[in-house]
Amino acid sequence: MSAIKCIGILTSGGDAPGMNAAIRAVTRSAIYNGMTVKGIYRGYKGLITGEVETFNSQSVSNIIQRGGTILKTARCMEFKTPEGRKVAYDRLEAEKIDALVAIGGDGTLTGARIFAQEFNFPIVGLPGTIDNDLFGTDVTIGYDTALNTIIECVDKIRDTASSHERLFFIEVMGRDAGFLALNGAIASGAEAAIIPEISMETDQLSDMIETGFRKSKNSSIVLVAESEITGGAMGVAERVKKEYPQFDVRVSILGHLQRGGSPSAQDRILATRMGAAAIDALLDDQRNVMIGIQNDQLVYVPFSKAIKNDKPINRELLNTLRIVSM
Ligand code: ADP
Repeated sequence: MSAIKCIGILTSGGDAPGMNAAIRAVTRSAIYNGMTVKGIYRGYKGLITGEVETFNSQSVSNIIQRGGTILKTARCMEFKTPEGRKVAYDRLEAEKIDALVAIGGDGTLTGARIFAQEFNFPIVGLPGTIDNDLFGTDVTIGYDTALNTIIECVDKIRDTASSHERLFFIEVMGRDAGFLALNGAIASGAEAAIIPEISMETDQLSDMIETGFRKSKNSSIVLVAESEITGGAMGVAERVKKEYPQFDVRVSILGHLQRGGSPSAQDRILATRMGAAAIDALLDDQRNVMIGIQNDQLVYVPFSKAIKNDKPINRELLNTLRIVSM
């Protein structure tokens, strides 16, 4: 018998489609294994303020198809202080919660890692972020849905773009990672992507324009990853206006619609597998690991690795995009 009788589950940081599918899988796998499940609302904030509710199997009915997170999410500054984390720990003790499953991005897992070390408390993390920027997992929950949303938007922008002679810069999310921009560009047939990973080594804008970009085209679409490093779509457009005034430039910032919507089949399956694996990990005495997926195999990635290492971009994709956009 596992020493873990009761688990708490929370979602924190930026929300991502598929978080509900993960909550459902964690809850039902835990119940299947004889554990009690407590849902903690608003991430670490709810741990501090005591927004905790016991979940049964029906608590997570009819949510697999819903975007967002039924547990809500929040950013919690108090959890960044030792005093705040002590209040959170006392709450877990009072609720008799023996282990936590935390679903979120880099910040959420950083908080989980610090807390787990400070109080020797078992936590398993699930990578829930559209940015796909966690090391040790090929993909994160929400990434596929966001990519699909992006290509749907780019398809629509292309319809209007091709009626004029214009250069469109479309900004997509990703924080300091270019996965959404690069794969979004490939999947939507965009002409190029401007991503932070290679911003320091090459001037992507001038490369693009000077290698004959747009020679034979009516209009061109370039996906730009949001980031101070790329300057975002506005920053790139400003440069074009100054350095290449012959272009008629337009900017579109996709913004928060990229986070919304019903999760794709891929995200639902990924979240369900990862959610079940989180309970397996706890039963297996794993602690302070994130569940990842590599070559379709579920793996345990220590928090330290998932957070600290930069996930590399696949450079082959850059070359492929260059070839097919000619
Ligand atoms: P995401 O998980 O999407 O990256 P954030 O970066 O906003 O989102 O982090 C979510 C929450 O995780 C923060 O509001 C905070 O409560 C907690 N957190 C982030 N970084 C730390 C840290 N260094 N120490 C403790 N808690 C942290």
